[in-house]
Amino acid sequence: MSKHQPLCPKPGHHVQLADYDPSYKGEYPDKDSARDQLKSNRDRLRELQEVLWAEGKHALLIILQAMDAGGKDGTIRHVMSGVNPQGVQVTSFKVPTPEDLAHDFLWRIHQHTPPRGSIGIFNRSHYEDVLVVRVENLVPPEVWKVRYDHINNFERLLADSGVTILKFFLHISKNEQKERFAARLNEPDKNWKFSRGDLKVREKWDQYMAAYEDALTRCNTGYAPWHIVPANRKWYRNLVISNTIIETLESLDMQYPAPEPDLDQIVIPD
Ligand code: ADP
Repeated sequence: MSKHQPLCPKPGHHVQLADYDPSYKGEYPDKDSARDQLKSNRDRLRELQEVLWAEGKHALLIILQAMDAGGKDGTIRHVMSGVNPQGVQVTSFKVPTPEDLAHDFLWRIHQHTPPRGSIGIFNRSHYEDVLVVRVENLVPPEVWKVRYDHINNFERLLADSGVTILKFFLHISKNEQKERFAARLNEPDKNWKFSRGDLKVREKWDQYMAAYEDALTRCNTGYAPWHIVPANRKWYRNLVISNTIIETLESLDMQYPAPEPDLDQIVIPD
């Protein structure tokens, strides 16, 4: 497929994932053609994070969702490789604990939203509560169905409080997942990543795609947009995500705080 593929569906537009090619690579013929851009993105992101931290006015929340082997971990490793760890918190949301489940579904999430000056990365997120929870019937439909509105309101609250939200769905094909699972089985260094449970989830691929389509449609707002990232090629995925983060941070028009007056008069004593 060579025609231009949008990264962000328009708010209100009904998303059908079959319309999005997971192998799309834009105008880049191959990985080598993207190498320089990836490197300069790493440097630029480092600079932008430093101003974000120094200014202390905005926070950035990056939400990563994907099927198993979709590349969430690899994205974090590559895209964030240049930034100062002090200003970034990664939170991986696993199966909720009994304490989590004794609260509303957003309780455990809210505690990990980034403070001003920081970047927060969610490896999985509150979207699991309308994905795995829905597909595996962990709660009745009347419980998960109202969550889309709760999510939109929650994200609105964050946006109104100075948190810029970017949501990325790493879109891989079912065949690409098979190849990545096979690599986990065949390469000893990757064996640890393989879990039989992932095969059970794979059996329900179509149900997960339907659940994703609803989340991508119903929770796609101007203040918290979804990005459908073609993720079969890891380098293209990293490029798209780093470009998006950089454009977003640049649009915040951040400034270093004004220095104290008369710094040039200061003499440092021996
Ligand atoms: P990952 O696959 O993200 O690298 P794990 O293999 O530990 O990490 O998987 C985390 C598991 O937690 C996934 O199966 C995911 O579906 C599950 N999970 C996350 N959030 C929820 C939730 N709210 N309810 C039920 N299961 C969840």
